[in-house]
Amino acid sequence: MLNFIWLFRRERTQQNSKRLKKKRKRLARFSITLLFVALGLVTFLTLGFQAEKAKALEITDNVMRSSWRGTSFPVENFQRYSSAYGYRLNPDGSAGWGFHRGIDIAAPAGSYIRSWSNGEVVEVANYRLCGTKLVIKSGEWQHIYCHMKGRAANSPQGRYLNDPESGLQIWEGQYIRAGIRIGRVGTTGRTTGPHLHWALKYDNTYVDPGLVLQAMYRQQN
Ligand SMILES: [Zn+2]
Repeated sequence: MLNFIWLFRRERTQQNSKRLKKKRKRLARFSITLLFVALGLVTFLTLGFQAEKAKALEITDNVMRSSWRGTSFPVENFQRYSSAYGYRLNPDGSAGWGFHRGIDIAAPAGSYIRSWSNGEVVEVANYRLCGTKLVIKSGEWQHIYCHMKGRAANSPQGRYLNDPESGLQIWEGQYIRAGIRIGRVGTTGRTTGPHLHWALKYDNTYVDPGLVLQAMYRQQN
């Protein structure tokens, strides 16, 4: 009888150790898979980051080497830069950080905005955050203007910026020359005060407008 119990126990111990071995194998397989997934993810992110960095460097180089003669500062009554390009704490006081894709230029409400460069108006629109928005395309560049006074409106002739007090008529598809008045500083969209949110895109990638303003300034002297 004792012998039988001993045999039974030995059998159970063997079964347990088999189960344990199986468990360990499964765990090892899972760990290896996880390791490969993590390695793949790191490689993917690193390559993506490097490609983005290379593009940013290429654009910076392009900004430095380009001629900015004929371009215009985008506001007439400059007061101050109220926010720079890049990561910042949410300006509305809510918790968290966000990437600010342009620069904020404070100017009196109703003062004029000028087109930075020669180009075609490709968008006149109303957005929740950007407010009344104008986009002008100049070759590979796009200049974006937010929080403008007035509203984008439709008419049988097309889409235009409706701001009667400005005395201007800016239409989608219109060709604009650098330095020409295109609208006025307002507080449409999400703002804490009158300012122009000015953004630049080169080849569909956002560029720090501060970089372009520096290059413009250097070439003036
Ligand atoms: Zn802004």
